[in-house]
Amino acid sequence: MNFEPIGFIRSPYTDKFGIPRQPGLVTAAEARLELLPPFAREEAFKGIDGFSHVWILFVFHQDCLHAGWHPTVRPPRLGGRETVGVFASRAPYRPNPIGISAVEHLGVERDTRGLALKLRGVDLLDGTPVLDIKPYVPYADALPQASSGFATPPRVTALPVAFSESARRDVELADPNGQRKLFELIAQILAQDPRPGYMDRYPERREFGIQLYDLNIRWCIDDREINVIGVDPVAA
Ligand code: SAM
Repeated sequence: MNFEPIGFIRSPYTDKFGIPRQPGLVTAAEARLELLPPFAREEAFKGIDGFSHVWILFVFHQDCLHAGWHPTVRPPRLGGRETVGVFASRAPYRPNPIGISAVEHLGVERDTRGLALKLRGVDLLDGTPVLDIKPYVPYADALPQASSGFATPPRVTALPVAFSESARRDVELADPNGQRKLFELIAQILAQDPRPGYMDRYPERREFGIQLYDLNIRWCIDDREINVIGVDPVAA
């Protein structure tokens, strides 16, 4: 077997830290799936308009490709303290590092960059290679009666996300026309409290950074609020 990518994801997530654990959790995360030739042809997408969501099958290309695998993993959901079998998990480190995400589909567009599928609510790193696209079919794929083991819905913190004056100015400068939805994106990501599970009771207020596009978002958290301190260009 030798699978070739049909395209690559362009997403705001230029670093793994901060990417939500599953799709649909950060709806402001919009992405493009840029198709490669010979797949970049309109007829290959005929009929897709009728589907609001699609499955994206992709490769966990960053760090996982040659990392090997282990029969047990420590899901962040369990605070990294407990192990479960790799096949009972959605961990990126697996025998074949392939991921699946059901995401909102906003249409096919052709512009000077070529043919692309517009997506919303992704959990995919920028540059992710995509192996296949399939329509999401609710009558078969939506299983409301299913049980989900340890993978309970993530806790969204009740803490407000506040922007300092200078962070607010930085965001306005970085996203002058609001096209990147940077305010919403940052607020939705931080509301997921992206700290590793073992740190969620960290007593001290300390600074963290997440990277979105070419920006480093500096933030901190205490028991009252999440504060965005500053938004700076990533050092070259
Ligand atoms: N929805 C997919 C699945 O269930 O197969 C992915 C779930 S996995 C737990 C989500 C995490 O994968 C993200 O939080 C991010 O850290 C990581 N990730 C996303 N894209 C990646 C990539 N291209 N290479 C390596 N890790 C990636």
